[in-house]
Amino acid sequence: MPNSNKYEIAIIGGGLAGLASAIQLAKYGYSIILFEKNTYPFHKVCGEYISNESYDFIQGLGIPLSNMNLPQINKLRVTSQSGVELIKSLKMGGFGISRYLLDDLLYKNTKALGVTVLENCQVDNVIFNNDLHELTLSTSEKFYSKVVIGSFGKRSNLDYNLKRPSASKRSNFIAVKYHLSRSFDKDLIELHNFEDGYCGISSIENEKLCLCYLTTNHALKKHGTIKRMEEEILMKNGNLKEYLCNSRFLFDKPISISQINFSRKHAVEQHILMVGDTAGLISPLCGNGMSMALYGAQVVSLKIHQYLSNVITRNQLENEYAQFWGASFKTRITIGKFLQSILGNPQLTDITIKALKMNPKFTNYLISLTHGNKF
Ligand SMILES: Cc1cc2nc3c(=O)[nH]c(=O)nc-3n(C[C@H](O)[C@H](O)[C@H](O)COP(=O)(O)OP(=O)(O)OC[C@H]3O[C@@H](n4cnc5c(N)ncnc54)[C@H](O)[C@@H]3O)c2cc1C
Repeated sequence: MPNSNKYEIAIIGGGLAGLASAIQLAKYGYSIILFEKNTYPFHKVCGEYISNESYDFIQGLGIPLSNMNLPQINKLRVTSQSGVELIKSLKMGGFGISRYLLDDLLYKNTKALGVTVLENCQVDNVIFNNDLHELTLSTSEKFYSKVVIGSFGKRSNLDYNLKRPSASKRSNFIAVKYHLSRSFDKDLIELHNFEDGYCGISSIENEKLCLCYLTTNHALKKHGTIKRMEEEILMKNGNLKEYLCNSRFLFDKPISISQINFSRKHAVEQHILMVGDTAGLISPLCGNGMSMALYGAQVVSLKIHQYLSNVITRNQLENEYAQFWGASFKTRITIGKFLQSILGNPQLTDITIKALKMNPKFTNYLISLTHGNKF
């Protein structure tokens, strides 16, 4: 094997989980290669609200959030199709930043720390043999590493090629995102319900808004195009109608993804340490997937450092990381699923909003379950 293709750590996927892991591990001086199938900077479908639990951690990755004049978000407004609404302050709160900007800043810091980043480069397979991983790219080139981090997101060719059990499960969700320009309260995040889905709106950098919604393949098929679906379903919620009809759209066309798969995954498979959405996907817009990806990156990096400095064995590395993942995120994923099932149903959203308005303490508790602690 050529020495130039051998690294201590290989990272597959350069989203938040992969880039944050790379930055953490580069500080220990390891040889690291990161593969990303796209070219930075690029847009991603995401609500772009990050809970404050990861604020300090992101600053520690070299992103000067406090100097970036980003919107601080501490109020939640939820509406149903029939016009019932709930307004709540958010104890933990969060901030808004586009993935286009955040991922690109992390990428630049990763490169500056000496990590080899191969962009426009897709990993097609990983085989573990004799305590070493062999990674094969779509170009057939091979790389080797002692440790592999799987941070390839919610849906990847690797799910199928590695024959992950989750890949065979049916997935019925799609998501659509726009950036908008219009007046909006910067400290607010809104969630608007419609038949078969819900839509989040909040501010990001440079006075822009992110509007992102989740719905089903079935809804899209029924109405034929995104535009018709928006006119015939989303706009039944008067709040959404106002945003969709009276805003300046900053993209030529919507950014969308399909086949979003919420089925259970594992944090370690075939000796690959899965981080972020690759380990488990929380319901978008009512979880905090980005903070989970970042927290996972923090812990996996510490564990890998212990392993590579011979403090723990590979077995311990894998078991301890899998235990951490389950203990930290399983409840959040369950709560997210529960909230998603309510928000996708207009009648249930109505009933729930009315009940929550009568139980402010319980509402605060429910919101707190979707946010973690600062790390
Ligand atoms: C509709 C929607 C709205 C959301 N809104 C929010 C929100 O407001 N707040 C929040 O906290 N979370 C939100 N999330 C969740 C959040 O987007 C994810 O949890 C987060 O992006 C996870 O980061 P990641 O690094 O695991 O994955 P990603 O950011 O998806 O990164 C994975 C990377 O791997 C690359 N890749 C894939 N396969 C390969 C391969 N074979 N070789 C090389 N590269 C590969 C991809 O190109 C990608 O860049 C939302 C999710 C959705 C779907």
